[in-house]
Amino acid sequence: MSILKDAPFETLLTEEQIQTRIRELGEQITQDYQDKDLVLVGVLRGSYLFLADLSRHIDLPLIVDFLAVSSYGTRTQSSGVVRLTNDLSMSIVDKDVLLVEDIVDTGLTMSYLIENLATRKPRSIKICSLLDKPARNIQPVNIDYLGFEIPDKFVVGYGLDYMGRYRNLPYIGYLNHPPAE
Ligand code: 5GP
Repeated sequence: MSILKDAPFETLLTEEQIQTRIRELGEQITQDYQDKDLVLVGVLRGSYLFLADLSRHIDLPLIVDFLAVSSYGTRTQSSGVVRLTNDLSMSIVDKDVLLVEDIVDTGLTMSYLIENLATRKPRSIKICSLLDKPARNIQPVNIDYLGFEIPDKFVVGYGLDYMGRYRNLPYIGYLNHPPAE
């Protein structure tokens, strides 16, 4: 019995699909940021695996930093109020910031973060998200680097949790019976 192999989820994206796409994203980012001062900003906790893998495919002397957010409300009834629970550890003045996120769902978190970080005078801010659920977007967000567009399902694994657990699955699965709100 293996928790990772026998977890009760249907596979949406295999480990191989995820890793292949991340390699492509890393190569694209490497080209685009040649003459820039890149800071990867991971949004905790969901992006921790994505950022770790992505950063190893970016062939540049980049900086890594993290912030953490929490949003009020339930999964389907987002209140739109996002709170920064942990801030960056350094200044981003004149830096080229690439926000690294696990998933854009309503888009409220990303639009809040873009607005917040823009006040700190970075040279540029872009978004890299592994997943996007267009069917649920409320706030339009321009995702500059996107891994996969996915259907409106509650997904789990590769950083994304189900009630705090299963973030360490190497693939992305979905629940046939989404959690009650
Ligand atoms: P948004 O602000 O775009 O609605 O959502 C942002 C956050 O909600 C994501 O960073 C993620 O933590 C959480 N989230 C949204 N959709 C899912 C999902 O399908 N599965 C999991 N585990 N978390 C999700």
